[in-house]
Amino acid sequence: VTSWQDRNITVAGLGVSGISAARALAGLGAVVTVVDGGDSEGHRARAAELEAEAKGVSVRLGDAETLPGGTDLVVTSPGWKPDSPLFLAAAEAGVDVVGDVEIAWQLRGENAAPWLAITGTNGKTTTTQMLASILRAAGLKTAAVGNIGTPIIDVVTGDEQYDVLAVELSSYQLHWAPSVRAHSAAVLNLAPDHLDWHGSMEAYAADKGRIYEGNTIACVYNVADPATERLVEEADVEEGCRAIGFTLGAPGPSMLGVVDGILVDRAFVQNRQKNAQELAHVDDVNPPAPHNIANALAAAALARAFGVEPRAVRDGLRDFRPDAHRVAFVDEVDGVRYVDDSKATNTHAAEASLAAFEPVVWIAGGLAKGATFDELVQKSAKRLRGVVLMGADRALIAEALARHAPEVPVTDLERTDTGAMLAAVREAARLAEPGDTVLLAPACASMDMFANYNKRGDAFADAVRELASGSAADT
Ligand code: ADP
Repeated sequence: VTSWQDRNITVAGLGVSGISAARALAGLGAVVTVVDGGDSEGHRARAAELEAEAKGVSVRLGDAETLPGGTDLVVTSPGWKPDSPLFLAAAEAGVDVVGDVEIAWQLRGENAAPWLAITGTNGKTTTTQMLASILRAAGLKTAAVGNIGTPIIDVVTGDEQYDVLAVELSSYQLHWAPSVRAHSAAVLNLAPDHLDWHGSMEAYAADKGRIYEGNTIACVYNVADPATERLVEEADVEEGCRAIGFTLGAPGPSMLGVVDGILVDRAFVQNRQKNAQELAHVDDVNPPAPHNIANALAAAALARAFGVEPRAVRDGLRDFRPDAHRVAFVDEVDGVRYVDDSKATNTHAAEASLAAFEPVVWIAGGLAKGATFDELVQKSAKRLRGVVLMGADRALIAEALARHAPEVPVTDLERTDTGAMLAAVREAARLAEPGDTVLLAPACASMDMFANYNKRGDAFADAVRELASGSAADT
């Protein structure tokens, strides 16, 4: 057990997680300095508020780089690169660096709730929320935490007693959480993302693989993504911990999968008379797109590893509502359905959502973050009725389309202003035929045109509403 009394701790970043860490550690008697490079009025107001309410915390603004003298532990916030000057200075001084999740793990009380952990390039938030919904349907007290919701330190140190936690962990958080040991964990998929932060695909995969270390019951992997299974093989787990696969096809032994539209479990079969347990219908999954059924199977696998009954899996999936801008149906106008997947901010996500619709008019573009689009276009070409491109890096997508789908009509809006979204939706409506879907799945980040993916999705929904009102006025 660590004693925090009088330790000199530097917390990186005056954000939600940094403030939560500073409060908790100061509450245990540590002397905490929060450092942040910003020095705006907003920063100063937040700093003053924190210093006033938390004894033992001081905030240093305008310098995120130098290590305060006497520091004996640095606590990171999500998003800070491992080669940030502050961490390099810590390494130089022989001072440990850990993340908020590591602190949460160390601060959790006796009889603390076990963690069911989830990571992957895409689908983390959705799967974590599905899992929490299933656990709740089983009558368990739980919360979805980690990369989402209330800061994880607040949850594990709060008064509320939980039976089990559904924990979303980003690759960043795993990188800085060496001692976390989950009950069971899942890696949903592995595609190149954030490589600028991790340095290489190998380093990114290694950070994701950390989630399996020390698991006691189950390591859940994606049968269609062999890289996730390799991580299980490489992990050092507790004796008796099993590898459980999930697949959209018929499951082999120790797998969950789909048979005739039914999600079935061949891994945790309780009734020995049968060799598979029926869990739910694919239409119980919201929305029942293939990638989301995979998410549901991963959530089900973790819940089943925790002993949850099949019926609760079904009820939990039925109760689940996805967060906004994740393959969200907006409206139907003149027989064309409009779907907002603004959260598809990388090619792997866009590929998954395009796979759910056909024929589809695809609206794409934004900031590519170094991605290439050939594979995405090759895999999706035959579903495309047409494409509308906008945003800073739209030429990269246009070139891939010219190479691999020359017959598909493409409108290059040549616009990056916010009004472009209405023009894009109008153009998509022109290309679409009744029965088609118009899908916003940008495969890119939004920050060239919008504050974030939420704002981009809102702009899309507004544009669809405007289109609908125009269409109503016509008739
Ligand atoms: P994350 O928390 O990992 O960013 P989300 O659950 O918020 O993931 O989903 C983000 C986007 O990723 C979705 O809008 C969808 O386009 C895509 N997505 C979700 N699940 C998957 C999956 N299993 N495989 C591929 N893409 C997915």
